[in-house]
Amino acid sequence: MNEELDQTPSTWRIVCVKRRIFPQPRSHIHIVGVGTGESATWADLRWTLAQALAALKAGHTFYILDEEHGQPIQVVKTECRVCDKMILSAIKTGNMQLENMRECVYQPDPEVSFSDS
Ligand SMILES: [Zn+2]
Repeated sequence: MNEELDQTPSTWRIVCVKRRIFPQPRSHIHIVGVGTGESATWADLRWTLAQALAALKAGHTFYILDEEHGQPIQVVKTECRVCDKMILSAIKTGNMQLENMRECVYQPDPEVSFSDS
């Protein structure tokens, strides 16, 4: 699916996210996958969290676009403040946040797993 990872590091626009509730240590929501694409309404590629984190490590860049202001906001690896697992988050806070992106409409991939993060 992500053959692009073998190529030169690229820049990917995140247009939607997959969320899942994690129960420990208290119920909270993680983004467990992202969709990237040119259009805000369509994800060309689907990434599990582990794939996105691996891509970041390989030098790829992810961002979300504040279409109102035309500003790309970089998405980085960060620690969940609740459970300390590594997650994705947008660098700047404001009205445009990764957590507020629309839910991806595709069905969850069976490979989506948080355990290998
Ligand atoms: Zn967490």
